[in-house]
Amino acid sequence: MDKSSIHLGKIFGVEVNLHFTWFLIVLLLAWSLAASYFPVQYPDLTKINYWVLGIIAAVLLFASVLFHEMSHSLTAKYFNIKVDSITLFFFGGVAQLKEDKFTPKKEFWVSIAGPIASLSLAGIFFLVAYLVPSLYFEAIASYLARLNLILGLFNLVPGFPLDGGRIFRAVLWQKTKNLQKATYIAAETGKAFAIFMIIFGIAGMLFGGMGLWYVLLGIFLYTLSKETYKQTILKIVLEKVKVKEVVNKKFKSFSLDTNISRINIKSLLKYQQDYFPVVKGKKILGVVSYIKLTKFQQFVKTVKIQKIMISIKKIKVLGLDEDCYSAVRKIMRQKMGVLPVVDKGNLIGILNGNSLVSLMDLESQKKK
Ligand SMILES: [Zn+2]
Repeated sequence: MDKSSIHLGKIFGVEVNLHFTWFLIVLLLAWSLAASYFPVQYPDLTKINYWVLGIIAAVLLFASVLFHEMSHSLTAKYFNIKVDSITLFFFGGVAQLKEDKFTPKKEFWVSIAGPIASLSLAGIFFLVAYLVPSLYFEAIASYLARLNLILGLFNLVPGFPLDGGRIFRAVLWQKTKNLQKATYIAAETGKAFAIFMIIFGIAGMLFGGMGLWYVLLGIFLYTLSKETYKQTILKIVLEKVKVKEVVNKKFKSFSLDTNISRINIKSLLKYQQDYFPVVKGKKILGVVSYIKLTKFQQFVKTVKIQKIMISIKKIKVLGLDEDCYSAVRKIMRQKMGVLPVVDKGNLIGILNGNSLVSLMDLESQKKK
């Protein structure tokens, strides 16, 4: 969980977080319901009534979104896929699933569970609105019925990474046996749909309708398709490569007792390393940054490298049999350009994050 979310608690063993934008949207939603939607639909109530209706409807809409996300997560759990957490944003949520355990069949069911949940809720709320003879029940239930219907249908649009796009991808994946190709087609469909929404929205605005909402949603969906595609390909490609296949053995390291005044700083540039391993024999003991070396050489002439290195215990290292996706994630989390590759405490080489990304670019272009 990142810092922009707060922890809400655990439901069926799944951690639920709220993104900070959520509060803003719930307030905005309650306000717009109380100030315009309910007064237009039900003109004879008091202001307080509208606010109570607005707040209840907004909270129940939140519960509906949570229900949608929970059904993805619980279906995933049924298939033994680990669910880390759910983070709820303003109009939806993201369930953090261990995607490597997916098969076409599992992805199909996990993805379709959400829209089925929303459409079932829509049905239940329609029934409540129809059957319960109370104006308040009817007001809230018919609003929630409509919103859940929209939520269910919008998510069924076959553009990746929406649920419908994932269902579409699962079907393509099953047919082609090629996850990368399936992802590409589903993401392109997502982008095409997004462009259609934007054009539709602009046309709507020109003819005096509610177009802006579609334009914004279209832009959001377009960006989402593009970014998720990139992330997914990164994962698919890098997971197939082991660290030992790409480890860089032509690197610069320093021995523990090197005096930094002896180092020729300029000659280090050719290695393109922001960090250099510090070793004693073959054992790695730490790393030292290029910036620190430069600074110390300017101001303090005689200091041993041992004094300014970061201990190996404080950084993540890469193993030979680790896959490159896990490696690139460690490199990003550590905010270092390179990480040492270590086998039983011995330094084998280094891995550069940038070289992994170019490897990915090369691979992802092959498929198009
Ligand atoms: Zn969903």
